Amino acid sequence: MTPDGRKLLLDSAMAFGVNLEPALPRFELLYERLVEASATTNLTAIRDERGIVLKHFVDSLSCLKSSKLEGPLRVIDVGTGAGFPGLPLKMVRPELEMTFLDATQKKIAFIEEVCRAMNLAQTHCIWGRAEELGHNPAHRETYDRALSRAVSALNTLSELCLPLVKVGGFMIAQKSQRVEGELEQAQAAIRKLGGTVQEVISFKLPGLGELRTLVVIEKTSPTPPAYPRRAGVPAKNPLS
Ligand code: SAH
Repeated sequence: MTPDGRKLLLDSAMAFGVNLEPALPRFELLYERLVEASATTNLTAIRDERGIVLKHFVDSLSCLKSSKLEGPLRVIDVGTGAGFPGLPLKMVRPELEMTFLDATQKKIAFIEEVCRAMNLAQTHCIWGRAEELGHNPAHRETYDRALSRAVSALNTLSELCLPLVKVGGFMIAQKSQRVEGELEQAQAAIRKLGGTVQEVISFKLPGLGELRTLVVIEKTSPTPPAYPRRAGVPAKNPLS
């Protein structure tokens, strides 16, 4: 990373109240691995330094605005891709027990390798589908938090995430646009799955000035056993 890139990262993280200095070597390592891996695989579409710093690292850290990621929580990042938002969050909040879930093997292999290189404890990498994990007793309703960025619309996403969250826990969806319409369309799904919208937080991303929104959904009652439906159905035929 260049000195400019480092400064951009430190300053932008500060906007979320995060002193990123102690974790800087880990961000440098992640940056290098991302650039390296992107040369040979299509791990992520964002490849320039400013883009990686702001759209991957800082955008991931913006989940902290929810104030729901303090303490030794059991967290799952659903459809994590190359580790976003879970990896930057784990790097600044090592006390989180972080599970990375993705349906693409090479993405999970990338995260596994990076976690090993960084010596990050309390991380679990799972290659699989949320629809299947949601019925696995070792995972169903066992997480304090489910995070997700850029996976699907809220109606589908709720079916992928809420079954994994324990009652009293929260799902936090990162959205890059206004969510009123999407939220309206997802109300019935959220209710059926045992969720209640707790908060919608909108803000501008430091450095880019683009609008971002966090949708925070509380798990207020158990998810009925029928959900999630089998792989692919939540996306093809969203609950309504
Ligand atoms: N969250 C990352 C990646 C977004 S791309 C980021 O914001 O950069 C969406 C990712 O979700 C892909 O890697 C895809 O493999 C994964 N995905 C989509 N549906 C899924 C499902 N049902 N279960 C697990 N992973 C899924």
